[in-house]
Amino acid sequence: MNSQDYINREDKYGAHNYHPLPVVLERGEGPFVWDVEGKRYFDFLSAYSAVNQGHCHPEIVKALTGQAQRLTLTSRAFYNSVLGEYEEYITKYFRYDKVLPMNSGAEADETALKLCRKWAYKKKGIQENNAKIIACEGNFHGRTITIISMSTDPDARNHYGPFTPGFIIIPYNDPDALEDALNDPDVAGFLVEPIQGEAGVFVPDEGYLRKAYDLCKSKNVLFIADEVQTGIGRTGKLLACDHEGVRPDILILGKALSGGVLPVSAVLADDEVMLTIKPGEHGSTFGGNPLACKVAIAALEVIRHEKLADKAEHLGKIFREELRAIKSDMIEIVRGKGLLNAVVVKPKGDKTAWDVCLAMKEKGLIAKPTHEHIIRFAPPLVITEIQLREAIELIKETFKLFE
Ligand code: PLP
Repeated sequence: MNSQDYINREDKYGAHNYHPLPVVLERGEGPFVWDVEGKRYFDFLSAYSAVNQGHCHPEIVKALTGQAQRLTLTSRAFYNSVLGEYEEYITKYFRYDKVLPMNSGAEADETALKLCRKWAYKKKGIQENNAKIIACEGNFHGRTITIISMSTDPDARNHYGPFTPGFIIIPYNDPDALEDALNDPDVAGFLVEPIQGEAGVFVPDEGYLRKAYDLCKSKNVLFIADEVQTGIGRTGKLLACDHEGVRPDILILGKALSGGVLPVSAVLADDEVMLTIKPGEHGSTFGGNPLACKVAIAALEVIRHEKLADKAEHLGKIFREELRAIKSDMIEIVRGKGLLNAVVVKPKGDKTAWDVCLAMKEKGLIAKPTHEHIIRFAPPLVITEIQLREAIELIKETFKLFE
């Protein structure tokens, strides 16, 4: 079978809920992936930042295979010998009292919303069913009905109503709008991405997160950070909130928490918030399974051992500097933090960001447009400087093709 055969089969038997770049991958190692014809590519998406530690990291795979031969799933109906080890490890790692393990990012976001509402009624004293949560225009927190109820993206919402009530939507990166919205005494939480990833790597003004946090504190409102994409080294710090010394009341993690090996997500909070949820009120069959726990410990160890946050900070500066030096009238803006970057592409004739991505693929680098005109560049953080510079050359050559 060649690539086209694989593509045709997916097209025939799979739901058409994605529009992938036409490349069929079968193997990965570090920052590289190979297609079924054996061609090697730099992976500049990293599965939407789930593969920060690089493809098939040997330490993470070792943890996976080792635990897979002992015990994979017990459900939370029983204790298991690994969950506590993981809970201790991750809470110390991120300095919170407690963790609630889930699987996907969306589930972790849902968990945070439920925690926030519960806290609103049990601790803040908001009248039952009145709690509101503020979210931002352009947000991406996943695809469930409640989460798309906060979305302002027509593709996410159209024909999926009715929606979950209880959200106030304000512009992103606008502390004044937040201050206004916080005047409503029924507001319990503010949910925010420290950098809006899916929206096109929107980096807010310096000081925004700190200001937003302080405003929330002044109104006894929980500051909830969705670090599913920005967390775990990606932006040059362990958490993107660390850039401004902000410690979220509720921290949402996913993706790279497993190094891309399994769906592993988590919500972290202190006791005052976390202990409002009682037995039987929330959970998931697979959340906290021993396999996921061992994998997540290994994935977090790799981040620390290999100093991947520092690497992202250093390499990110090189990347933006080099891309900003490219002379191309198709490059409108280069922005980002650490190794979460994007180029806003100005279409040239009928040539769009999609065509640039197709041409980059031919050169041996894969990335994907978001919102048609933005290309996100987010390689695994294990990429070396030499490899990064090689990849930058491929990007430069590609843009030259469109001159
Ligand atoms: N939150 C953010 C910030 C994300 O970027 C994503 C996915 O891209 C999610 C949540 C949803 O994660 P998942 O696709 O694992 O449900």
